[in-house]
Amino acid sequence: MQISLEKISLFPPEQYVYAEQVRALAKDIFGENPKACVVTYGCQQNVSDSEHYKGMLSLMGFSFIDEPSEADFILYNTCAVRGHAEDRVYGNIGVVKNYKRKRPNTILAVCGCMAQQDIVAERIRKSYPYVDMVLGTQVQHRLPEFLYKRLSGSNRIFERQLDNADIIEDIPLSRDGRLKGWLPIMYGCNNFCTYCIVPYVRGRERSRHPDMILKEAREMVAAGFKDITLLGQNVNSYGNGCDFGVDFPDLLRMINDIPGDFRIRFMTSHPKDCTIKLLDAMRDCEKVAKHLHLPFQSGSDRILKLMNRKYNRETYLGLIKAARERMPDISLTSDIIVGFPGETYEDFCDTISLVNEVKFSSLFTFIYSARTGTPAAAMEDPASREEKGIWFRELLLAQEKIAKENSKNFIGKTFRVLCDDFGKKEGYMSGHTSGNCSVDFKAKKEMLGKFVDVKITDYTNMLIGEII
Ligand code: SF4
Repeated sequence: MQISLEKISLFPPEQYVYAEQVRALAKDIFGENPKACVVTYGCQQNVSDSEHYKGMLSLMGFSFIDEPSEADFILYNTCAVRGHAEDRVYGNIGVVKNYKRKRPNTILAVCGCMAQQDIVAERIRKSYPYVDMVLGTQVQHRLPEFLYKRLSGSNRIFERQLDNADIIEDIPLSRDGRLKGWLPIMYGCNNFCTYCIVPYVRGRERSRHPDMILKEAREMVAAGFKDITLLGQNVNSYGNGCDFGVDFPDLLRMINDIPGDFRIRFMTSHPKDCTIKLLDAMRDCEKVAKHLHLPFQSGSDRILKLMNRKYNRETYLGLIKAARERMPDISLTSDIIVGFPGETYEDFCDTISLVNEVKFSSLFTFIYSARTGTPAAAMEDPASREEKGIWFRELLLAQEKIAKENSKNFIGKTFRVLCDDFGKKEGYMSGHTSGNCSVDFKAKKEMLGKFVDVKITDYTNMLIGEII
């Protein structure tokens, strides 16, 4: 585990040398203005990783376009969490064959969580001979080296070692946003929930040194970021096994102390590691958004045990109670899996009853998707896809009703809102409350990036307000 500051690994100097060499080669091969297209699938961690891929590609002289058919370098940063997302990636890789017929020099790289799986790498090796590189999640920082080798005529590159090595700091970065940004605080996961592929493709938990996180947070604030989301598969276990003596609530307080007008968010929290100390820090830190995304996955204790989630319904509801005692207006969101192997309608009803009891602001709901290599994929799964679909729709209807009631209760209340985008209608601005609810209101374009107080005046399919 990475521990003391002097042991931190930085972006290797030889990668800068490779980057310079790629810059020269790319001009020869692709022309004066080589273009890259980076396509990101899946979670915010992937979005953040793609910002590093773009940082390295900028260093190598590439500019960016959205259309892969026009690109000299295509990078698919993939997600392995759901079968559907994987199918889309295979479909898109298939289409690149046609692009390569027209532009034979185009380089195609498949990176991220899918690329980390042996079964995927083998399928690409055999069935997609025009894929130039398959890169796993822990070799990202070597992109300049791989691109240099491939452009210089090396064989196809398959690099996927998962050795849980040190986190590499200072990888070049090109952020997508200017107001809202991602700040990874840790990588990997030790939890092995039985349905989840993450520990197998992202490796064991590794926390960044707090000094590196604070440095990056200060830089983001200085650059004008107003909404910073701390990222990790399980942020609540930040610092476990490290000797720097800072846990996640401590880290929140340290970032909160950075001068400036900005908001701090974080995701994702695991209920088993969510502590009263964290809830106290959220209450005390004025910059920490009053929003807790706390995935409960199932309301049935029997299913939670099969999922290896290590908490039960009662402890989850205890946390919700403790959060609301400290922050009565806190916005609560969650993830739910419907149709885990062995789940019965009775188990599902426990999920619905928990949803009705907590009244979440919003939910991310999924029908269970078996992931090869996980324990759940080998469990008996008697409920049919159709049955699970019916349960899923029942859950959506229950949540829709709650969300409408919650939103109507907002009418007449005033919220501090970050003006973070232009509204759909001319003359309108769109923004988010501390609880991450979206509001549209009349505002001049110059208000972009400012915090304003907005009174909610109406709700149709969305919240409408006016600046007060
Ligand atoms: S906590 Fe569980 S669900 Fe979340 S990433 Fe880790 S193993 Fe996957």
